[in-house]
Amino acid sequence: MPSKVEITCKCGCGRKRMVRTADVKRGWGKFFNKSCKAKEQEKRTGQMKNYLKRRDNQATTFSSNFLPYNGDVEVYDDLFDIDEMDGHFSNEGN
Ligand SMILES: [Zn+2]
Repeated sequence: MPSKVEITCKCGCGRKRMVRTADVKRGWGKFFNKSCKAKEQEKRTGQMKNYLKRRDNQATTFSSNFLPYNGDVEVYDDLFDIDEMDGHFSNEGN
């Protein structure tokens, strides 16, 4: 049975959740959910902005068949569904 620890979300929303200590050690489990993480990461790196810019450019450069960015939250999910790679993201350039 994995041991767990309660964390307070790092984005400042104050929400708490239980995460596996193993994940904490890997640098994961800092946020209440993905949108919290997105907020915090955006503040720090502007990564989402760049991502959207790239994506947007592609969308207009290629063809109208290429899914254009339409302001949907799905975009966030796209990017942050790779939760298993959190460690890489969080430690990047710090
Ligand atoms: Zn939060």
